[in-house]
Amino acid sequence: MEALVRIPSLTSLAVRPDHVDGDQVVEPWYLRGACRGLDSAIFYPDPVEEFVIEHALSVCARCEVRPECLDHALSSRESTGIWGGTTEQDRRRILRRRRSA
Ligand code: SF4
Repeated sequence: MEALVRIPSLTSLAVRPDHVDGDQVVEPWYLRGACRGLDSAIFYPDPVEEFVIEHALSVCARCEVRPECLDHALSSRESTGIWGGTTEQDRRRILRRRRSA
């Protein structure tokens, strides 16, 4: 069964809330994000609102799915928002470094 899921760092998605891997039910990574249930505006701050950016980054810092979130943001070229503990500038820097390596 599909459900409409809203998490701060992602837009609303129609997703399966879990899937079965062998005998285990596995939740998708984005349902385990520390940002789940928080106001999505925190993760799309105005660039001059440094305190909001710091708040979003502090949520990411304690998130168990931070690597998965960052991988998603990099592979899908998310150009706005806080993802995986990175700002847009951080992700551009990471991608530039990867291209030049
Ligand atoms: S790393 Fe940050 S944006 Fe990504 S799921 Fe976790 S809390 Fe949300």
